[in-house]
Amino acid sequence: ALNFAAILISILCLVLNHQNRYGTSALLFIGYITFLTAIEVFVFGLIGGFQYFFFNMTGLIMFSSWSPRQKLAGVLTEATLFICIFFLVLNRDPVTILSGGMTLFFHTPNVLLNLSGIANSANYYIRVATRARQGLSNLAMRDYLTGLMNRTAFDGHISGLLGSGTQGRGPLGILLLDIDHFKKVNDTYGHLCGDEMLRQFSAILSRNIRPGDYAARYGGEEFVVLAPMEDPTRLRAFAERLRRDVESMEFSYLEDRLRFTVSIGALFIQDTDNTDHRQALDLADRLLYRAKAKGRNRVV
Ligand code: GH3
Ligand code: MG
Ligand code: MG
Repeated sequence: ALNFAAILISILCLVLNHQNRYGTSALLFIGYITFLTAIEVFVFGLIGGFQYFFFNMTGLIMFSSWSPRQKLAGVLTEATLFICIFFLVLNRDPVTILSGGMTLFFHTPNVLLNLSGIANSANYYIRVATRARQGLSNLAMRDYLTGLMNRTAFDGHISGLLGSGTQGRGPLGILLLDIDHFKKVNDTYGHLCGDEMLRQFSAILSRNIRPGDYAARYGGEEFVVLAPMEDPTRLRAFAERLRRDVESMEFSYLEDRLRFTVSIGALFIQDTDNTDHRQALDLADRLLYRAKAKGRNRVV
């Protein structure tokens, strides 16, 4: 009956785990198995070997989501129980002497329950670690404001697309985009309005790029798009489309309705194997500068 109850409690613990109530689940499981162990040692004596389950419990405790203090209390409790019960039954005849077959019968579910408990705890830690790693890599690679890739991620990406050691990749288009008179937006409508404009601009970029393209926030109000492209005419058309999309969008912020424009330096690179990425970005930057000098809201 007690072993059967253990199985029911294990199922209940699985349900609790599913609800992310790992601490309660561990307390219930460890508490019940400890209680069961104590009973079994009393009934079957040391010869039954059940006292070693107290050690198994310390493994589960260390794997649990409890605080260090709670873990210490748990381990000390298990150790105390082990020592007390060990000496209590040391010179006493067991209530029942188990046959080899019966020992196996009692030990098997206990071992299985212990293993499933450890597996669940390990699973919990794997999930926590995976989530933390994804969160960290997101923080490291994504721009917080716009959700686009950030400069660090972009630098890593472009160095893999250009230069020696990248043989076999086709021609590439680079767009450097800089919002026109952005400082004026900040000065007139405030920084929060500027931030919202950056978000909406990023949304236009994300909407327009194809799978395989790469968009990143390059600096304050400067963005970059990498797009594998067969010929310069297509690159120009792509850049023009972006420019027109921005120009025609009515941007609303609180009660204000405003429009803004973007200048784009568009560089087509035929020979990606023999172009250094710093050199390419420098060229694209010069094209952007010319777009600004020619009066803004244009593609060069
Ligand atoms: P131009 O047409 O020549 O590009 O003029 P501009 O005013 O856009 O260029 P400038 O480089 O002088 O100004 C960029 C401004 O962008 C200055 C900076 O305060 C602002 N900025 C940079 N990062 C952010 C940001 O994350 N949020 C907001 N709101 N503003 C930012
Ligand atoms: Mg600008
Ligand atoms: Mg700028």
